[in-house]
Amino acid sequence: MNLAELGWSDFFAKSFEPLSTRGFVPARASREHNRVYSVIAEEGVFSAEVSGRFAYDAASKKDFPAVGDWVAIQPESGGGRATIHAVLPRKSAFVRKTAGARTEEQVVAANVDIVFLVSGLDGDFSVRRIERYLTAAWDSGASPVVVLNKADLCADVEERAREVESVAFGVPILSVSAKEAQGMAALREQIGQGKTAAFLGSSGVGKSTLINGLLGVSRQEVQDVRGDDSRGRHTTTYRELVVIPGGGLVIDTPGMRELQLWSDGDGLERTFEDIEERAAECRFRDCRHESEPGCAVRRALEEGELDEGRWRSYLKLRKELDYLASRQDQSARLVEKARWRKIAMEVRRIEKNKQSRGDR
Ligand code: GDP
Ligand code: ZN
Repeated sequence: MNLAELGWSDFFAKSFEPLSTRGFVPARASREHNRVYSVIAEEGVFSAEVSGRFAYDAASKKDFPAVGDWVAIQPESGGGRATIHAVLPRKSAFVRKTAGARTEEQVVAANVDIVFLVSGLDGDFSVRRIERYLTAAWDSGASPVVVLNKADLCADVEERAREVESVAFGVPILSVSAKEAQGMAALREQIGQGKTAAFLGSSGVGKSTLINGLLGVSRQEVQDVRGDDSRGRHTTTYRELVVIPGGGLVIDTPGMRELQLWSDGDGLERTFEDIEERAAECRFRDCRHESEPGCAVRRALEEGELDEGRWRSYLKLRKELDYLASRQDQSARLVEKARWRKIAMEVRRIEKNKQSRGDR
């Protein structure tokens, strides 16, 4: 397998340089199951796990390899196994909070260049939802492209595209019909050689149909040819990073499909640039845009310059993000607390040792 075809570029080559001297080779993670990875290298596909050292040093889930990551591996002699020693810095990452009482970040797809935000032009169509996905896209570092699918079911495609245009400043908008293979060439064009694409969108909007269209085969046929898992049992496993015939790659992971909104970047600000700009004109810097005098946002709403629906959508997202941020703070505080407890115990132990030595 040619590295460039897998998405290798100067960006990764640069950070790999110091690792190559240690006899490691670069590989891209194409699948993950219980921290057992399929990685593709120039030499072929390996089943790989992180080294003990790596696991010991990893501070959080985010540090472990994710599908799409470039890793430094050491192949074991005589067999398709390898050890992962490092994860190269990511160009972009889709992150979601993991389930459980504590909020922890987990990367669900790494090094995605283009993310297709898919909506159905049928009953599912919602500009508000597209705003949400745009926020997630900007936060990831990947470039968004809006895909309006099921054009065959819609009588006013242009009208819908205009609606989207008003919320997706400068973002390419494609209308396609995956079912009738309309507009697929434009989709391919957006991806390009060696670039990695991913799809975001609600269930049923046609993501699988689009991916199948790109690959020119059904997903069933793309299943991992090795077909064996760590226990050597035959299972139906999908490679989650797939090379598109003709160029480019697609990442399709379960985690990506259930991505929850998670933001610590400026995604919200960029999606709602118009609102942020107005808010900057409010008389008070900490204006909550409720009943404060000289509020530019309320004025825009009253004068109909700012759409009420868009404003509500912004408030809802703000609230969700604030909630997530507070959860994040809380877990950070817990980690900090545990760290201090450990330090305090260590200090006490040293004091005690000193005392017992002094007693002698
Ligand atoms: P996913 O959940 O986003 O992966 O959606 P699927 O690809 O499974 O598609 C959901 C349903 O929508 C299936 O029944 C598809 O046949 C149908 N579908 C997908 N694309 C189109 C399209 O362009 N036009 C129409 N009419 N139906 C489509
Ligand atoms: Zn205000």
